[in-house]
Amino acid sequence: MGTAKRTAHTERMNALRAEAQRIVSTGRCPQCQAGLHRNLALHGWWQCDRFGAEGFRKDTTGESCSFQTFTH
Ligand SMILES: [Zn+2]
Repeated sequence: MGTAKRTAHTERMNALRAEAQRIVSTGRCPQCQAGLHRNLALHGWWQCDRFGAEGFRKDTTGESCSFQTFTH
């Protein structure tokens, strides 16, 4: 992998991280507006409160949601 490609990759990762941090700072899922919470299994992993199987979701109202993001 050349330097230019690596730089582009780093910039893209930084942009994604900045976007993730912006979303997390709102405390709301951008897809369904439910809350967000950390998944403690992995540092910097955030999931929608409606993420996951029925019965395991933090927020059981509304449709299930697959939104998740990483801030690290
Ligand atoms: Zn959601």
